[in-house]
Amino acid sequence: MHWADVVAEKLAGKAKKHVLATAITPSGPIHVGNLREVMTTEAVYRALKDIGTEAELIYIGDTFDPLRKVYPFLTSSYEKYVGKPIAEIPCPCGEHESYAMHFLEPFLNSLKEIGVEPKIYLAHELYKEGVYNEAIKIALDNADKIREIMKRIAGRELPDKWMPFNVKCENCGRLDGEITEIDYPSASYKCKICGYEGEIDLRKGGVGKLPWRVDWPARWKIFNVTFEAFGKDHAAAGSSWDTGKEIVKVVYNHEPPMPLVYEFIHLKGRGAMHGSTGVAVAAEEVLKMLPPEVLRFLFMKYEPSRHIEFDTGFGLLDLVDEYDKYERIYFGLEEETTGTKDAKRVYELSQPYKVPDKPSTLPSYRHLAVVAQIGRNFEEVVEILKRKHDLGDADLKRLKQRYEKILYWLEKYAPEEIKFHLHYEKPDVEISEEEKNFLRKLKEKFEKIEWDAEAIHSTIHETAKECGLPAKKAFQTIYKITLAKQQGPRAGYFLQSLGRDFVIKRIGEFI
Ligand SMILES: [Zn+2]
Ligand SMILES: [Zn+2]
Repeated sequence: MHWADVVAEKLAGKAKKHVLATAITPSGPIHVGNLREVMTTEAVYRALKDIGTEAELIYIGDTFDPLRKVYPFLTSSYEKYVGKPIAEIPCPCGEHESYAMHFLEPFLNSLKEIGVEPKIYLAHELYKEGVYNEAIKIALDNADKIREIMKRIAGRELPDKWMPFNVKCENCGRLDGEITEIDYPSASYKCKICGYEGEIDLRKGGVGKLPWRVDWPARWKIFNVTFEAFGKDHAAAGSSWDTGKEIVKVVYNHEPPMPLVYEFIHLKGRGAMHGSTGVAVAAEEVLKMLPPEVLRFLFMKYEPSRHIEFDTGFGLLDLVDEYDKYERIYFGLEEETTGTKDAKRVYELSQPYKVPDKPSTLPSYRHLAVVAQIGRNFEEVVEILKRKHDLGDADLKRLKQRYEKILYWLEKYAPEEIKFHLHYEKPDVEISEEEKNFLRKLKEKFEKIEWDAEAIHSTIHETAKECGLPAKKAFQTIYKITLAKQQGPRAGYFLQSLGRDFVIKRIGEFI
């Protein structure tokens, strides 16, 4: 059984209606590693619905969190905003409502593209609207219990006066006000940063925020959350999960959600993805080079506890090939093997929206990467592919999408070895008499053979042998007269894609 179905089955009987929550702080580009949280949760949500259980998927943007530091991707002008809520800091590009929205908007658009449509809540709005008011009062009334839990479970020594609430300083706007005295609903505070002393009415929304370790359990109660997935950083001993599940029981008199811990995603050769270190690829960036169903596939295929190595180089082509294989299995064109566990379910869960009703006849991503460099525009690419593939209307749409994404990949991420520049006009290269002789014979044969990759490939070998030219040299000659360099893509497919007319004409220009 697929992992999402296993979790859904365990979860289903525990409540009549399930609320599955995900939350990410948009304090930097939201990367593929973060996406795992949403995708893991969404898979369980789909699985619950598939067994007829009522379920809701919510996403809470932690837009009221303070900016923690000036991240490597920010200019030093952001120094003055450290400590302020990210919903109240100007956006880096000038085109978004706030710093938070600058990072959140593209992420939410990506979610839509991959078929994830949660109910969206923004923490700064929730606080402002007073949704947290009751939870804040309860936390303050139980400050001693929270202090005790923090000490016992997280080993944190907190002063006796410590209150689980960070006031937003009315003078400097930072979430660094500490409550000094409280007479609910009013509280006096002093700002740790600017020293300002003031008074607030705790019933007024947005005057401050629960610290993360209290905020998290508070929202389980507020939204009645029954399931939440989180990264292993939150799950270590003494972590926010450990204190949270105790706080929700003791303070909020509520049961914690069923947890699911997921592993980090590593960027090949660079380590675990972290927005704050810059080792990350934003979700929207990945969607510029990978079809949405393949991005989903990456998460559906591996159990959440498995570490994923994301490769923007050749590994990207392998990933798409693998997805295509699962598609063939789904439609019965290929057998399921031990390496393709739950292939049909994985394929189903990989679809952003509807499962296609028939398999596509698209070329492999690898082959498309070659053809996309031969054709000068989409029409030419279609023309080349149509010689060998039957492309229906639905396939054309998918092909267009794949074509655009592979162009982006070629431009930004593809390894040099796969890139080439086709010379449409005769390139300025010298070839020897020996090579000319080989080309003359090759031309004669090329005029007669069946124009397919394998036949082309073996004809090159055969001709080279007849001419006493080493095979390596023969291939180099072909690349020289087409690409003006010594290497290129696999010759059979390459020449087949160039078309017989082009190849014969080009050889003619050299002999
Ligand atoms: Zn912006
Ligand atoms: Zn202040």
